[in-house]
Amino acid sequence: MPKKEDEKGFVDVINGRYKPRGVFHIPEANQPIFNKDTGQLAGITNPRDMTYMHSYGGEAPFFENLSKGKLMATRCDNDKCESKNSVFMPFRIYCPDCLRKATVIDMTDIARNTAIIHSFIITHRSGAFNSLAIPIKFINIEFDTVVTILMSYLTVGEPEIGKRVIPIFRTKNPTYTITDLSFVLEGTSETELPEGFTF
Ligand SMILES: [Zn+2]
Repeated sequence: MPKKEDEKGFVDVINGRYKPRGVFHIPEANQPIFNKDTGQLAGITNPRDMTYMHSYGGEAPFFENLSKGKLMATRCDNDKCESKNSVFMPFRIYCPDCLRKATVIDMTDIARNTAIIHSFIITHRSGAFNSLAIPIKFINIEFDTVVTILMSYLTVGEPEIGKRVIPIFRTKNPTYTITDLSFVLEGTSETELPEGFTF
């Protein structure tokens, strides 16, 4: 059941510290588990409702920019690194080769102009708390100049290896999670995009 406002937990950062307000743990009555064959008690359910504070740390610029329709990657700019100029998407805070902090760059245009499907998998069964429409078309994506492969999901069209795809962003009511980024086949029109998404 959706929670009312007074049953939710909220967090702000004030003066560099987390300041929680509201409710973070909601108790709920447990239920017995009986063996229907013998009538004997076998155990209990243990409902636990808690709100977890997930800190994004150095990855925050990635999630914040999805809400603005921008795809941010990182690049190693260390002159002494053999992997200098490597662009990382998924966003890596540090270069894995030299362990220096990587530079945040805007790769929205690279994604728009060069993204292709590297591989894909279609799943009709999802894990708990899934929020995506089933079947989910997971796609692995290659971009020009990017040394890694990104996993995302295709919202419009059927996946095929080598097909060009275009990023779309949940810019209306963003969730600030990875599902704010999705892809559609090249040629998809604005009117076909799911609610809340823009190019
Ligand atoms: Zn490096």
